[in-house]
Amino acid sequence: MVSTPRLAVFKFASCDGCQLTLLSLEDELLALAQRMHVAYFLEATSRIEPGPYDLALVEGSITTAHDIERIRQIRKDSRYLITIGACATAGGIQALRNWADSEEYLRTVYAHPEYIDSLATSTAIADHVTVDFELRGCPIDKYQLLEVLSSLLAGRRPRTPKYEVCVDCKRNGTVCIMVAEGTACLGPVTQAGCGALCPTHQRACYGCFGPSSQPNVVSLGEQFRRDGMPRHKIIQSLRSYNGYAPEFRAASDRIEAELSQAETTADQEAARRDREPLSRQETDRSPDHDQKETDR
Ligand code: SF4
Ligand code: SF4
Ligand code: SF4
Repeated sequence: MVSTPRLAVFKFASCDGCQLTLLSLEDELLALAQRMHVAYFLEATSRIEPGPYDLALVEGSITTAHDIERIRQIRKDSRYLITIGACATAGGIQALRNWADSEEYLRTVYAHPEYIDSLATSTAIADHVTVDFELRGCPIDKYQLLEVLSSLLAGRRPRTPKYEVCVDCKRNGTVCIMVAEGTACLGPVTQAGCGALCPTHQRACYGCFGPSSQPNVVSLGEQFRRDGMPRHKIIQSLRSYNGYAPEFRAASDRIEAELSQAETTADQEAARRDREPLSRQETDRSPDHDQKETDR
């Protein structure tokens, strides 16, 4: 790394919350500014210096054709490219459109959708260019961001946890709300980094740090089912800020396919029952049928 690395911070489709995390470093920011030259950071300064850059921090997801051209140019201009936040690493909450009719969303949200030129999908930066490191969270944790910047200055790889939120619950001595209260919690499949913030306040983890390194999402979904959670609720819980991360996406798609199959079976069963005399329907009603009704 050169003596005074040149830092650039770029925004794509996002809420700016992860860039604000950099500004909220406060005490550490002045020390960083002495060791890094901020060449491009529109959230902080209107001064724009052209590349090349030593480090590009990229927030936000790819949602337009122009975004694709821009991220390719940023990649060419940057020695290291690090994505920050759920939008950049997994497509963000805006990736919900990937399962929907994006044109319908446009018509609902905008008074003049004809002026909007966007892709039908929201995708992670790594789907388009090589990314050197991904920092998870919605928003990212400022101490993890500090670790990323410090490691770059020291010429080493950032050390951020890959284990699950549950580990931090145990370290903190927090009572597990899933075990104690039967509350569905995504902590067992979510990457640590927040210090188990939500369970510490008796709230379930909703996966804002994205999947851990080897998440068993299918197994957790089966546990949620055993605890009485309908399939469509499990799908909703997985399709959130990191819903399009491959591990969460695969699990929710699988459960959706199961649900569709269950509905088809239930529809076929309803059609069969319509063709039968009432007396036989009464004796034919089974607990399994009741479960399928609950699941819809
Ligand atoms: S990851 Fe969350 S906080 Fe960061 S830009 Fe996206 S929506 Fe905002
Ligand atoms: S509360 Fe959630 S994150 Fe904490 S140990 Fe229980 S399941 Fe894991
Ligand atoms: S507990 Fe889960 S949802 Fe809450 S801040 Fe941590 S990772 Fe995000």
